[in-house]
Amino acid sequence: METRVIPVDREHLHRDMLAEAAQLLRDGELVAFPTETVYGLGGDALDPDASRRIYAAKGRPSDNPLIVHIADTGALRVLAEEIPPEAWELAERFWPGPMTMILRKKAIVPDATTGGLPTVAVRMPSDPVAAMLIRESGVFIAAPSANASGRPSPTCAEHVYEDLNGRIPMILDGGSVPIGLESTIVDLTGEIPMVLRPGFITIEQLREVLPTVEYDPAVIKKVKDETIVAKAPGMRYRHYAPKGELTIFEGDLAAVVARVQAEAEAKAAEGYRVAVLASDETKDLYRGLTVRSVGDREEESTVAAHLFETLREFDRMGAEYIYGECFPEEGVGQAVMNRLMKAAGYRIVKI
Ligand code: AMP
Ligand code: MG
Repeated sequence: METRVIPVDREHLHRDMLAEAAQLLRDGELVAFPTETVYGLGGDALDPDASRRIYAAKGRPSDNPLIVHIADTGALRVLAEEIPPEAWELAERFWPGPMTMILRKKAIVPDATTGGLPTVAVRMPSDPVAAMLIRESGVFIAAPSANASGRPSPTCAEHVYEDLNGRIPMILDGGSVPIGLESTIVDLTGEIPMVLRPGFITIEQLREVLPTVEYDPAVIKKVKDETIVAKAPGMRYRHYAPKGELTIFEGDLAAVVARVQAEAEAKAAEGYRVAVLASDETKDLYRGLTVRSVGDREEESTVAAHLFETLREFDRMGAEYIYGECFPEEGVGQAVMNRLMKAAGYRIVKI
């Protein structure tokens, strides 16, 4: 299959630009499109064959459910039942935006979309291309991140093309995404609302609406612990990983830099291709190594925006061993460290 990449001019967005993509979705085909978080691989959420196509294109395990994207809050009533008042409060505050809710699903949502779960994940994206595509197609769009399963999520159309060329008919190219990390997932089906995946919307922000919300234990674990089972099935899998072996060093920043320098130097001396994942503040402190800054420590949203792209760059340079700094876990830092830790397979060295 030939994959067409269609540029969309966000400044002068017009529905005609999305007519073909909308038609593909109505025909049960797949279209990759930008959202404010990462690029999504979309298909008709109520068509089990479209969902199966998504799993096949990504090579995604079929028990890992998809997020259903909607363009107006009222669509919640079509997809979910027993909707608690908290859901409407969250929607009012954070939609459209990078927040996904887990609710009890209605029968209309096929098992193929929810990985057989009795619940459904729903989000209203704020990206104008995504919103217009949902409206124009007239379907709810099931969309996981548009990467091959296990790889870092795509933050531009080139990343999608790298992973899915030949496997999907169309990629809408809306440039680089602003946030760069997947949505915050909040589960509202239990007694206590739980964050199953941290994202750009922080738990502090959620608590302004839902004072009792907690992290699911699987989110904050720092070690590989098989006894803690992730409730968002996707968080169970090795994910976001570069091809090289990534190790994260945690501790006082100066000590981290010294240790990364020493470890990387030693590996390079053995003849391996080595790279360092650093920050704007530290990148010039390393000597004789291949170094990439992922962003500014004082502005952790810049780290979020460039993390996945940097991990992909390490793959392109053929890095066999990657040594990374850790980042403060406040605000969006919680999501940054969650992705980094998973990318490292929890290989973390405390100094
Ligand atoms: P992705 O779109 O690739 O970020 O993947 C969607 C994420 O949402 C995965 O981590 C899924 O496990 C999670 N998810 C989707 N539906 C549900 C659900 N019904 N219950 C719990 N987690 C879900
Ligand atoms: Mg994903």
